[in-house]
Amino acid sequence: MGAEDAFSYALSSNAAWAGYKNHQNPAFFPKLATGQSPSILWIGCSDSRVPETTVLGLQPGDVFVHRNIANIVSPTDINISAVVEYAVVYLKVKHVVLCGHTSCGGAAAALGDSRVGGVLDTWLTPLKTVRHAHEADLKNIEDAGKRGVRLAELNVEAGVKVLMSNYVVEEAIKERGLKVHGVLFDIATGKIRDLGLGNAGMVGEDGEIVKGHHGMLVFKEGGVAAMTVQ
Ligand SMILES: [Zn+2]
Repeated sequence: MGAEDAFSYALSSNAAWAGYKNHQNPAFFPKLATGQSPSILWIGCSDSRVPETTVLGLQPGDVFVHRNIANIVSPTDINISAVVEYAVVYLKVKHVVLCGHTSCGGAAAALGDSRVGGVLDTWLTPLKTVRHAHEADLKNIEDAGKRGVRLAELNVEAGVKVLMSNYVVEEAIKERGLKVHGVLFDIATGKIRDLGLGNAGMVGEDGEIVKGHHGMLVFKEGGVAAMTVQ
């Protein structure tokens, strides 16, 4: 499919989707237009294979989003800081979810020893720092794919620490019990694994239910999250 064709297809697909949603529930879009009150702030990778609302089985209006290459959380990044502040202070989300994923190109690049070029090497510097801090552990992992997954996990761990040190997050944790989660999406299975990070930790046997308006996500012990459509 050519580039033009892909865009034309996307537009016609949108028209079909909007028609279907409207047919299913004529009140859906008018209600959506009145405002948003998402319970979840999702911080994830820009990778096309990890579209947060889709993989969570949720719907428009359920998830406030920030995505960048390799889901890097830098304290001086005004873009992510603005998203976090708006989501936490104004939208009063109940959960902040930082999600890494398997087969992350950013993690692979940070594990490589050659320059990517342009601005990308600068962007990936925090990930390289994480790599260097865990160089010995990473070197012990022979399989390149598994090494990438481990770096993605360590990157989520580092990002959760930055989020937990963000003052609006700190205040919301104290004042209203905001939960911060660190998770990893496995592209090969479609499943999200809870890494037991942040102040949410690994959840108990009954699981923790994160509800959207049209679906819910259940974090269960053993680190597997399951989705139920309401
Ligand atoms: Zn990625």
